Amino acid sequence: MNCIILSVGDELITGKTVDTNSAWLAGRMVELGVEPLAHETVGDDIDTVADGMARAAARAEVVLVTGGLGPTADDLTRQALAKAMGGAELVLDPPSLETIAEFFRRRGREMAPANRIQAMFPAGSTVLPNAVGTAPGMTARVGTSDVFVMPGVPHEMKWVFEHEVRPRLSLPRRTIRTHIVHTFGRGESDVGQMIADLMTRGQSTTVGTTVCSGMVSVRLIIRSETAEQAQTEEQRLVAELRRRLGDLVVGEGEDTMASVAGRLLHRKGQTLATAESCTGGLLGSLITAVAGSSEYYLGGAVSYANAAKQTLLGVDSELLERHGAVSEPVAAAMAEGCRHRLAADWAIAITGIAGPGGDSEEKPVGLVYTALAGPAGTTVTRHLFPGNREHIRERAAMAALNELRLAMGG
Ligand code: AMP
Ligand code: MG
Repeated sequence: MNCIILSVGDELITGKTVDTNSAWLAGRMVELGVEPLAHETVGDDIDTVADGMARAAARAEVVLVTGGLGPTADDLTRQALAKAMGGAELVLDPPSLETIAEFFRRRGREMAPANRIQAMFPAGSTVLPNAVGTAPGMTARVGTSDVFVMPGVPHEMKWVFEHEVRPRLSLPRRTIRTHIVHTFGRGESDVGQMIADLMTRGQSTTVGTTVCSGMVSVRLIIRSETAEQAQTEEQRLVAELRRRLGDLVVGEGEDTMASVAGRLLHRKGQTLATAESCTGGLLGSLITAVAGSSEYYLGGAVSYANAAKQTLLGVDSELLERHGAVSEPVAAAMAEGCRHRLAADWAIAITGIAGPGGDSEEKPVGLVYTALAGPAGTTVTRHLFPGNREHIRERAAMAALNELRLAMGG
């Protein structure tokens, strides 16, 4: 079974409102085992909406439409459905009118005459009541497809979908499971090459990659006859991915780099402190974005100026003069000073050139030293990150956390 999602609204096509309805509906349909074929967004125009409905109905078994059911003259989706049905008339549904009037009465307001249109439906369609707003939805056959029209307001759309649309879908026995495995340390094309044979299209399982903040994530969509089969296939594939990708694998699902590093620290009962120069607190922010990080994160210094590196971390002024702030010895001294002063098991230090200025022949933009001081000593890694200031800072923080993760065997 497949579907097409059609969202309607001038505010959507002009980019004023982001279309969140389609993403939510697509996610629900995937969970229910229905395959979304396409999303389309159109403006509030009868012919365009009717044409979108007819084309979608020609391709997919189910068409989900949201938006354009308001009481004002610019909301024309019901008229468009009537047109797509071959020119059906709009007829008044007295129970719907009563429900809408009652909706206003309960709020101590009078129903405006304009709201009457919300109780009108194309002849031959079925009303989908809306208990949380004034715009009921509707469903009708267009060609060989079921078209479901829901209100645009997201919480109303969700209510109508769960209570009125989902029970009417003749859902397939097939189930779909989705899973995601996050990696860090190699580019998307490298990861793609390591799992190329698993990514072949046209199989019952789809494997794809996405990148965010330097993390390459492998997405699995598994289609099976039964939930047990899907679960078995998911376990097999995750094990295979872990075998091939080794310690590039950071985690799965909701895991983030910081949550995984935090879990390792928590498990060992160890603590962490940070000393940040070019990331200016970004690393601390990532770490503390994880609920419960107070269990293992002690705090840190944003030691941006050389003077701050000396006073907050005890970095030797002679070291700064001789090697410069962006150097291997200074990174190591920052991490060691931080570890010592905060009495932490681990300390991460970051110093680098985020640009766009401040570079030189031997120290280009993107040069970053990350240092990790731990129970067994200190290691420093030299990086040369591509991209703009934001990219470089983000990469630096992620790479430093990844080094902690690897050092802790995670
Ligand atoms: P409508 O049903 O067209 O009157 O939509 C009512 C309101 O719902 C709009 O003003 C938007 O703020 C919101 N809305 C409509 N469609 C969407 C959508 N696809 N995603 C998110 N919000 C939407
Ligand atoms: Mg609208």
